[in-house]
Amino acid sequence: MTDEHLATRTSRAVGAVVGSAVGDALGAPFEFGEPGVYRAHFPDGSGEMRGGGGWDPGEATDDTQMAVLVGESLLEHGGLEPADLFGRFQRWAAGEPKDIGLQTEQVLTGGDPWDTAAGLHFAMTGRAAGNGSLMRAATSAVYFAGAGRWATMDAARRIAALTHGDRAAWEGTAVLHELIRVALDGADPSAAVPETLRHVHPDHRARWSTVLSPDWHPDDATEFNGAVWPALGSALWALRTTSSFEESLGAAIDLGGDTDTVAAVTGALAGAVHGIGAVPERWTAPLHVPLPGFGDRVLRCPELTGLALALAGTPSVDSR
Ligand SMILES: [Mg+2]
Repeated sequence: MTDEHLATRTSRAVGAVVGSAVGDALGAPFEFGEPGVYRAHFPDGSGEMRGGGGWDPGEATDDTQMAVLVGESLLEHGGLEPADLFGRFQRWAAGEPKDIGLQTEQVLTGGDPWDTAAGLHFAMTGRAAGNGSLMRAATSAVYFAGAGRWATMDAARRIAALTHGDRAAWEGTAVLHELIRVALDGADPSAAVPETLRHVHPDHRARWSTVLSPDWHPDDATEFNGAVWPALGSALWALRTTSSFEESLGAAIDLGGDTDTVAAVTGALAGAVHGIGAVPERWTAPLHVPLPGFGDRVLRCPELTGLALALAGTPSVDSR
């Protein structure tokens, strides 16, 4: 491997982690907006971190907060330690984050142990296919990428299952991890969809195939994009129909609905494809990630960059 290749891979790993956080913060003020909401605010397509809806400009939401918890648990344990990660999620949920997904909150605060809480919740409600395990994928995707497809998709499913009992969420989260892994290798995630689908549980393959197909459009969605299928389908659509990191986030947020999560997922993919150099500095400068339940900690771009480098196993390389 040449130095140039290493630098490129490093830039992509940082791009995935920081890009997801940027998408989350950029999309947060538009949550539950109508389609066209981004263009209405930024007619020339050049968006700013604006704040609103209880969020300060550049403030990342639960998506990124949980992604940081995932990343830090992986690093401290040298791998996936599900009981520890569940405990971190619980501590965070008890810290009264500004936003938390409904089913995530119910699972984390219900008092059941880590290995049964999500399953019990799903058995009782029958509803656990929200996008809440997709949104926090960037850190674990970077961490497991070097271990290959099987390890990546297996870890993704196990992390998803901590809060989401529906296998649809596990499979979607596994697909997203794998597409980020492919992008970190320098390949095109969209082109990797058919092969990735072969590794999706057969009971769920058809539905995932529909929303990930090259001719699927977010208007074709049969659920609100707070559900796992249209959230990932929309993110992949935003990636494949644009040519820059900035454009991809604009397209994602302009869909309206669960804008922070769709943009966080889009940002993870687009950051992995285009690298951190493609993420505008006017977006990374105000970016900050509070961690409720963990004192006054607030991660900014340098700390997120350090986290991404550690997850990628690249301790001290200038990412730009
Ligand atoms: Mg959020």
